[in-house]
Amino acid sequence: MHWLEKFLLPPSCQLCGAAAIDDELCSDCASKARVIVSACPLCALPNDDSSVCAVCTAMPPVWQQAYSCLVYDGSVQQLMINWKYQRRTSTARLLGETLSDWLTLQAIQLEATAMIPIPMHPKKLRTRGFNTAYLLAQAIQHTTHLPILDKALNRIRHTEAQAGLDKATRYNNLAGAFSVIAENLQGHRHILLIDDVYTTGTTLEVCSRLLQEAGVKHITILTLARALPPNTSSTS
Ligand SMILES: [Zn+2]
Ligand SMILES: [Zn+2]
Repeated sequence: MHWLEKFLLPPSCQLCGAAAIDDELCSDCASKARVIVSACPLCALPNDDSSVCAVCTAMPPVWQQAYSCLVYDGSVQQLMINWKYQRRTSTARLLGETLSDWLTLQAIQLEATAMIPIPMHPKKLRTRGFNTAYLLAQAIQHTTHLPILDKALNRIRHTEAQAGLDKATRYNNLAGAFSVIAENLQGHRHILLIDDVYTTGTTLEVCSRLLQEAGVKHITILTLARALPPNTSSTS
């Protein structure tokens, strides 16, 4: 923010309107955001010792690593809703910078050679005007220095909201909604697959399998936020 703008319009919190630190959030709302510092390396669920969780031990996911920056609840959830539905560019900038800074501060060594954001259906993209996953990929590009492949993975069918459906139904609904054009992978064999929220992981799983069928050998998942499964009360 320009100093004059700041002087004339003192920054207020995007969530509650109180005086903001860093132009965007007040200290109270910022302190409610839970940053993930230690998590299961396969599903990004927060824990205390970075060990593989019981669920992933019993049934490892189809990808090789997963990282997520924030717990999807409270102020983080509200910010992401503001971003998607109120199209606030200041929120987009805040969340993009948060993910980028987190990758740097956590010293995450990404071995992927290209990034693929989970695509939206073109019709939905036209309505909303932007794809949150794509904007996140762009926001971290100065940290990852990786190209974005935006024509390799495509959404060919629109799917209705998946909330409230069980995993098998979600998977079936999504199977056939995406397709991969192998030549647009440009020979990349290790992909950083990016999305805004990791909820059940079904979308990420469907897309990972398609990429693997097209020849990708190694997939790393990166999401801005990780939803906790119901009935967990993790405080880390
Ligand atoms: Zn606030
Ligand atoms: Zn896990």
